[in-house]
This record gives sequence, C-alpha cells and structure tokens, in this order.
Amino acid sequence: MSVKRILTGIRPTGALHLGHYIGALKTWVELQKNYECFFLIADVQALTTHVDQPELIEESVREVLLDFIGVGLDPTRENVHFVLQSGVPELTELTTYFSMLTPFSEVERNPTVKAERSQLRSNPTAGFMIYPVSQAADILLFTPYPPKEGDQLLVPVGEDQVPHLEQTNRIAKVFNRRYGKVFLECTAKVGQVGRLVGTDGGTKMSKSLGNVISLKDNSKIVENAVKKMFTDPTKIHRRDSGHPEDCPVYLYHQSFGDPKMLGERAERCKSGDLGCVECKKDLIRTLNSFLEPIRERREKAKKAPLREYLNQGTEKAREIGKITMEAVRKAMHLNYPSIN
Ligand code: SF4
Repeated sequence: MSVKRILTGIRPTGALHLGHYIGALKTWVELQKNYECFFLIADVQALTTHVDQPELIEESVREVLLDFIGVGLDPTRENVHFVLQSGVPELTELTTYFSMLTPFSEVERNPTVKAERSQLRSNPTAGFMIYPVSQAADILLFTPYPPKEGDQLLVPVGEDQVPHLEQTNRIAKVFNRRYGKVFLECTAKVGQVGRLVGTDGGTKMSKSLGNVISLKDNSKIVENAVKKMFTDPTKIHRRDSGHPEDCPVYLYHQSFGDPKMLGERAERCKSGDLGCVECKKDLIRTLNSFLEPIRERREKAKKAPLREYLNQGTEKAREIGKITMEAVRKAMHLNYPSIN
C-alpha cells in the first residue's frame, strides 16, 4: 500500500489565533481524516527569533497543544502525531548535512528570509539564516523510505506558498543526484488556505501588532476586540453607503459567518440599511459561537495527558527519522563500510 504522509508545522511563539485557524488549522482538521499527519511544533525554529525568551517558548508549546486539541485535532487517532521538533535529534543531524549542500548565496536570496530579516531588531544569527535548510530537513526526514510507486510526502500550502517548497525540493534533488536516491520530493497539497487580516485591517495578524483574536480569548475580550475593529472609513453614519469589500469586519463575516447571509449583509451595508454598530454586534455573536466549542475542548484538554501525546508523536517521528538517517548516512558513506 502506498504511503501518503502530511508534514506541516507551527512555531510556538504565543497562543494561536484566528489567523492561524483560517490559514492552517482549519485545513489540518480536514486532512487528519484521510492522511497520516505529522504536526510539528517547531520549538527549535522559534529560537531563530526568540532565543532570549525560553520561558515564552515553553509556555507557548503548552498553549499550542491546547489550541491543537481545541480546534479538533485528535492525537488519540492512530494517524495523528504531535511532534516536538527539539525531541527529534535526527532533524538536527539532517539539517547539518543539508547545510553542506546548500550554497549560502541561495539561502541569502530566499525571499522569506529576506522579508523576515528586514523585520528583525538585531543582527540575524547563523541559525536564523539557515532556517530554510532546517525546514527542508523537517519535511524530508519524513520521506517514505525506500520510496515506492505512489508514495507521497505532502505539505499543505496555499497557492502563493508553493514556491516556498522549491528550496526543499532543490535540496532533495542535489542530495539524490550526488549520493543516490534517498529522498522523495515533497508535493504541495494545495487547498483553499485562506488568509485573515488583522483586526486593524493590516495584512498580518500578529500579537506584537496587537491586532489578534486568540483562540483562547473569552467572550469579553472578543467583544472588546471587535468593538475596536476598523471598518470602511467612508461609512461614518449608518445611512452612508459602505464598501464591504474594504471592511475588515465584513472580511471576518466572510470567514466565520453564514455564507447564505453574506450577500444580504453586503447589500444592506451598501444601501445604508445596516450600520457598523449592528454589524459588529452580529460579528461578536458569530465569533463567540464559533469559539465556544474550541474554548470548551481547550478547557477539557488541560486535564488530558498532553505530555504523553507529545511523547508518542515525537517517538513516532523518531522511528521514521531513524530509518531515513540510516539511509542518509549510508548514502554519504558516513557509516564507514571500509572500517571494520
Ligand atoms: S456595515 Fe458592516 S460591512 Fe459595512 S462598513 Fe460597517 S462594519 Fe463594515
């Protein structure tokens, strides 16, 4: 039987928010129904930007676990694995070998590295600069080995993120060409991965920008956040004609509201029949009823054996990683067959 493995992950640098849900978690919940899934909590990668905040990373790993379970990821399923990156030494070893195969100029040119580097407050560390290489290791360690006809290593991404996987596959190709085939190139599992603007209408939802609604926020926090949300600046009074497509509140209705009611809402906004106060009240109700079951599952999960889930998933990742690394070392002659 062919293997179809999903590998994806998240950096634990704070509790997860609605942007994470729309951009990733929503899809992951669907994928767990049909695939073997490895959900990586990338705590080592979090060090690339938060090396001075180990307590924050520790707390965030727990929050992420609660959020995972809160949204409906189910680590009690046989095919669902929560993996702690630092618990898989094979990932570190593979990153080291891959870093020898990747020209530094290629890492420097990487558009994501360039964009994130410009936002850093201090000089980038060597670890930061090679994080696309470690990402390649995160994915390719899970290669089905030996790869068979029909096997797939899938990474869920939105259409615009497909180029991010190119570096991973470039490394796989270079390795396979130089040492013989070990790695299966990964395939983008392109889906309807959405994007959610911040509550201020900014393109990025980020805690540091103060424009997030977290999955664990209570109803009062949600209410206050929505009340402060930006709306269409040209609609000052209820009777003014609004432009819902330019309004963050409407974009949230699009993501979380009843799709059947969207057309009517847009028409009422444009005609001046709907005011922003009423529209925001509707959104508060909608978000709170969306978040309520997540809060309940999250609360219950606080009594669940989180450590055990993490250990089991990490152990499963190591099982696969050991097979891959044995093949890698053999291919690179690092098992020294000539020395007995
Ligand atoms: S009525 Fe709603 S959609 Fe229209 S501008 Fe106000 S908040 Fe936005």
